[in-house]
Amino acid sequence: MAHIQACPRYPVAKLFALLPPKFIEALEQNQKIASCCRHPENHDIEAWYSSEAEAEKGVPDIYKNHCTCGRVHVRFMVGGGDERPVWEVR
Ligand SMILES: [Zn+2]
Repeated sequence: MAHIQACPRYPVAKLFALLPPKFIEALEQNQKIASCCRHPENHDIEAWYSSEAEAEKGVPDIYKNHCTCGRVHVRFMVGGGDERPVWEVR
């Protein structure tokens, strides 16, 4: 099933106030990825729903970070208790 876009691609630097700190820290502290990819302040982020059922809830469950190098780092949200920010671009 195709994923459904929830929030448009947008610079992380403009969403710092909105994004949970662990979204940033998880990339900064990941020793397995390229050094550029550990600088989420340079990334764009977009939010997705994995299915129509998720879209109906209005709560994104997939976040994709686009690094300047072209790599995409995907964060899957499972279960409750985690903050799932949404944003709009005007
Ligand atoms: Zn990178």
